[in-house]
Amino acid sequence: MNSHRQKPFIPWLLIALFMAISVCSIILGYLYYMNQKKELLSDMQTELSAITDLKVSQIIQWKNERIANALMLGDFSPFAEGVADYLKNREDNNLRAATANNLKMLARRNDCRAALIIDTVGNILLSEPNQDRKEYFYMKELMPGLMSMGRTVLTEIYGTDKTSKVHLNLMIPVRDTKDKDKTIIGFLALKIDPRLTFFPLVQTWPVPSRTAESMLIREDNDQIIYLNETRYWKNQQELLRRPAGAEKLPSAMALQGIEATTEGIDYRGNNVVAAMKKVPDSNWYLVSKIDHKEVFSVLDRQMTMIIIIITLFILATGLILGIIEWNENVRFYREKYEAELDRLALRKHFDYILKYANDIIFLTDNDSVIIEVNDTAVEMYKYSREELIGMSLTTLLAPGSLNKMSEEKKIIDSRGQATFEIFHRRKDGTFVPLEVSSRKVEIEGISYYQSICRDITERMLAEATLRQSEERLRKIFEESPLSIVITGKDMEIFKVNPAFCRMTGYLERELKEMSFSSFILDDHSAEDKESLKQLIDGEILVFHTEKRYLCKDKSVIWGSTTMSVIHDNIDDVNYFIAMIEDITMRKQAEAELDNSFSLIKATFESTADGILVVSKEGRIVQYNHKFMEMWKIPPEVMESEEDEKVVEFVMNQLVAPEEFVSLVKQHYSSHEEVTSELLLFRDGRVFERYSQPQKIAGKSVGRVWSFRDITEMKKTEADLIAAKEKAEESDRLKTAFLHNVSHEIRTPMNAIIGFSALLNEPNITDDERRQFIDIIFNSGSQLLSIINDIVDIANIESGQVKLNMGEMNLNTTLRKLGEQFRYKEQDAGLSIKLITGLSDEESIIVTDSTKLVQVLSNLISNAIKFTKEGHVEFGYQYKNEFIEFFVKDTGIGIPQEYHDRIFDRFFQVDNVVSRKFGGTGLGLSISKAYVEILGGKIWLHSRPGEGTVFYFTIPCKTKTSAAV
Ligand code: ADP
Repeated sequence: MNSHRQKPFIPWLLIALFMAISVCSIILGYLYYMNQKKELLSDMQTELSAITDLKVSQIIQWKNERIANALMLGDFSPFAEGVADYLKNREDNNLRAATANNLKMLARRNDCRAALIIDTVGNILLSEPNQDRKEYFYMKELMPGLMSMGRTVLTEIYGTDKTSKVHLNLMIPVRDTKDKDKTIIGFLALKIDPRLTFFPLVQTWPVPSRTAESMLIREDNDQIIYLNETRYWKNQQELLRRPAGAEKLPSAMALQGIEATTEGIDYRGNNVVAAMKKVPDSNWYLVSKIDHKEVFSVLDRQMTMIIIIITLFILATGLILGIIEWNENVRFYREKYEAELDRLALRKHFDYILKYANDIIFLTDNDSVIIEVNDTAVEMYKYSREELIGMSLTTLLAPGSLNKMSEEKKIIDSRGQATFEIFHRRKDGTFVPLEVSSRKVEIEGISYYQSICRDITERMLAEATLRQSEERLRKIFEESPLSIVITGKDMEIFKVNPAFCRMTGYLERELKEMSFSSFILDDHSAEDKESLKQLIDGEILVFHTEKRYLCKDKSVIWGSTTMSVIHDNIDDVNYFIAMIEDITMRKQAEAELDNSFSLIKATFESTADGILVVSKEGRIVQYNHKFMEMWKIPPEVMESEEDEKVVEFVMNQLVAPEEFVSLVKQHYSSHEEVTSELLLFRDGRVFERYSQPQKIAGKSVGRVWSFRDITEMKKTEADLIAAKEKAEESDRLKTAFLHNVSHEIRTPMNAIIGFSALLNEPNITDDERRQFIDIIFNSGSQLLSIINDIVDIANIESGQVKLNMGEMNLNTTLRKLGEQFRYKEQDAGLSIKLITGLSDEESIIVTDSTKLVQVLSNLISNAIKFTKEGHVEFGYQYKNEFIEFFVKDTGIGIPQEYHDRIFDRFFQVDNVVSRKFGGTGLGLSISKAYVEILGGKIWLHSRPGEGTVFYFTIPCKTKTSAAV
């Protein structure tokens, strides 16, 4: 802001610029006009000169044509001869009449106004139509000339009083043909009216123009006669005349022989541009002219436009310059206005400061009399404003401050200003400490003292508080059991406390020459630098590290170090504070603890048992991987560290989950108990669980659980028991078998031996012998059957049984089998019935028929053996590509508990019938083995006392399917 800006002067520069632009524009316009004018004039002069030349040549051509036409009438033409005859015999009336007649024709034919015959002295002898002789006054003068030329000529144009009677004659000499010299005896004159063909030729202008015209002139007695009618001299009584010496008149110039195109003043007195030329072989001059006004009319129109444009340009320039000037003025006044506003604001601000300033402001004169004070002073001293003004400043000084005041006044007088502290006294007698800034000022040539005083009571109090606080801090620093080091930004030690000296063994003065980093053993410089940077940037308030420090005696101690920064007033880092706690003992204890912990951990992991340690609060304290593996617990469950979650996760794996949960709870509640139990899993596993309390200083803090997987052990145990039982059973069966076999063999053997001996008796009858032989035969068969059974079972067990597949008719075979047992019907009082499931044709199958028959025989003989009365049915039916055989009896039946075992080798139900009928206990086991070898299975339905049905199946291989 420029508050001293002056109002601008009259803008001479702009005005000069405007004038210069205007003058230049006008000069340029004028030059352009002059140039255009010159060009236009030059163009017009060329045009006029060309037109004049054209007209002159047309006139010559017209004249020549007229003379050529006249030649045909002259000399030896019949017409001329007729005229010559008349001239020679003028009195001959016939001739006169004939010639007059000829003249009439001639005048009509040649577009002449009249045809005349003139004698050699100029008298008109004949004229057709009849002419006023006086009008031809010039003939007499002409004659001598005509006579001497002796050829056809065109006369001058002679004007009369009336322009309509302008004379232009074609003079044709008439000669006496009979005369030797051919003397001219008269003239035939054809009066031509120039207005018909000649003047239009002169007057027509080749281009459209409002003022241009051509004029034919000639001189006559110092006068210029305008032969043709002009644009502005029409239908007049007389021909136009002007003096030959008229100035600037183009026609006059023509007579003077000037032929150049020039500017002049025409017969009307108007400015014109004209071109002049003499018509050769005549006294005529052709003058062509055009009005100056017309020539320059285009230029005048252009000039109007140019003047308008220049005027507009000048106006526009003036306007722009005016706007620039106006803008300048606006800016000037705006700045002036803003400066005024600022000044007012400053003034207001100053008044405000004076009124409301927190500081006391005085103005005193040279005698220390108060001239002006502000409101704060009134408030501070409790005097009214009126009381203060005029009061001596010394009244306000506290006792003892007068000397100081006069000293300071001297300083102000010499240096112009001073700042000092002094005590003042209020009206109520209380004292106030002030900080005074006093300055000498000149107001209208008189020196005054302006003092600004600040109440520094609070500051003094604060300083005292600060001193106390500093003292306290110093005490803390000095007496702290923690080592404290204050370093500069470069880590150079600045201050240490006694604890640090004790810890390191150095003296304070030694330390002050060292760097804090020189104690540090571990190289964590990169991490430390990063942390220090964060500390400096204010991202962290402190950072903590544990480092090893090297003491003066080369011993190493561990220190827990906390670093922080002290900022100065503008947030720059001034100092670092390090507080170090000696943790050497703790570190040693930790190392030992780590060692034992790793030992425990290794032991924990290397045991084959799963181990879990749970705190009293139910938090998982420790576990090994074996534990997770055994219980199939995912890591996330373990990571929850809650035993409750683990129990929840595993409980469903157990056969009795509720019991498990309640036992766990019970063990937790009895803190001292040592427990052991078995856990049965649904998947068959068995765990042995031990638990005992974990104690610290004899107090239970949790419980240690250990689990051992004893599934394999239990299984081996069970297998051993089963094997033992099986061996015992087999031993028993074998004993029974041996017992049976010996019984079964001994019985028929005894019969064979006994009855064979009886056969040798001499006194036996034939019937008796036959009976004995039967008995011996049956016993032999029984013996063979037993031996066969034993051999079969031995083959089966050694896996040597081979199938002998062949085609058989089932119905036929079963019928034969039924027949074999028929004899038993009477013996046992039973009926035996066969039921076939297929027709005879359908019943051809492929199987090992021997084995099938053996199975059926075994079953049928057992049925008959164990049925006292009733009936035995056997047969088969076709079921789903299998043939299901059955053997049904109404015998003693077999109790349910033996159903599984009767197919075992040597097994027999222990009952009266078995004991009575004997048997080896092999029949059913052989049958079962054969059925299974044939691809089927065997089972039974039986109830004691109701009878038994044995079923077995074999695959139904018919003839066709077997072939396939
Ligand atoms: P055994 O030579 O003793 O008959 P088996 O193996 O044929 O040997 O039979 C075993 C046992 O099954 C028999 O001792 C008998 O107790 C019982 N048993 C077999 N078939 C029948 C049946 N139809 N009715 C009752 N008990 C039977």
